[in-house]
Amino acid sequence: MREKIARFMYGRYGVDQFSKFIMGAVMVLMILNLFFRTPVITLLLWAGIIFVYYRMFSKNHARCIAQNQWYLAQVRKLGCYKDIRTHHIYTCKSCRQKIRIPRGKGKIMIRCPRCGYEFVKRS
Ligand SMILES: [Zn+2]
Repeated sequence: MREKIARFMYGRYGVDQFSKFIMGAVMVLMILNLFFRTPVITLLLWAGIIFVYYRMFSKNHARCIAQNQWYLAQVRKLGCYKDIRTHHIYTCKSCRQKIRIPRGKGKIMIRCPRCGYEFVKRS
């Protein structure tokens, strides 16, 4: 039996950050479902569960990795939005590297960590 499971799981994609996030969302939906029984929540709940299982047993690793990359990019973007009140985002004129500078420090010299280009900005 154990061997059968091992053979079945061989080459399958498994769980990544994106799947974990969806599982978390499914948990929240399950709790919501206890209070508000609407078809929309039930539908989303099942869609989430099916999607996670589908990815877990998928043999198309390239597509799953691409989805996970997309998810991680969204998380990073959200992280930037969260900082926008406390930080300025400047783009290096030389190499386009994004540089995060805390606000309220007055006029400061910024040195690009990637290419070493220096410029003065008001933070
Ligand atoms: Zn640079």
